[in-house]
Amino acid sequence: MIKAIFFDLSGVLYEGAGAIPGAMDAIKKAQTTMLQVRFVTNTSRITRQQILLRLKTMGFKLSSYQLFSAPTAAKAQILANNWRPYCLVHKNIKDEFEDINQENPNAVLIGDAEEDFCYPKLDYAFQLCRTGAPLIGIGRNRYFKHDGKLHLDAGPFIHAIEYAASVKAIIMGKPSIDFFRQVAASTRVKTNEILMIGDDVFGDIDGAIKSGMQACLVKTGKYQTGDENLISGKFACVDSVVEAVELAIS
Ligand SMILES: [Mg+2]
Repeated sequence: MIKAIFFDLSGVLYEGAGAIPGAMDAIKKAQTTMLQVRFVTNTSRITRQQILLRLKTMGFKLSSYQLFSAPTAAKAQILANNWRPYCLVHKNIKDEFEDINQENPNAVLIGDAEEDFCYPKLDYAFQLCRTGAPLIGIGRNRYFKHDGKLHLDAGPFIHAIEYAASVKAIIMGKPSIDFFRQVAASTRVKTNEILMIGDDVFGDIDGAIKSGMQACLVKTGKYQTGDENLISGKFACVDSVVEAVELAIS
């Protein structure tokens, strides 16, 4: 029996500036059941406040406590360890880390930095990690979808630094089991009673299954034909979030 639903955002609720057909009603339906609802995103090109505003402007109704974002989790991790991070993150979210001391860095934070992923900056991140600085990744997504095309996300760049410096990144965000469990803990529901709905077979589905949750892949957003065959484990695969919510409440 499902007692909580976790929704990925991009590609599940909306694509670009438009809501996925039926998504608004599906979320409304989920929010009026006894199920606990959370929204779980690795989006790191806009701030948490901007995510909430974007969803509300589109017409989705949710409360701030229901939203879990990877950059917020990464910041909490940095603060808990008193790290001084070198922040290779998107210019839009740099302000979120402004109140953290970043002088003489002893850690590296990598998110989807877009055009800031240039040789000097990646090389500096490598040098820090090579000499012992922990590497923190905001998610490990391979790619995201924008304007009908797939584009490189933070994952390949995190992987490059891991490979070159022989280190293992601490991933805050999907598919990190710690991150999924942090969200699960907010519901007080057993992990096997949670359904994760996402369009990323690796970040959303594989991560949720490895965290002990049930999962449902939707064929919207970044989904590509055959994605459901890329991982092992049992999970549902449906056309969109509309069918996924029906599955959870049936
Ligand atoms: Mg997505």
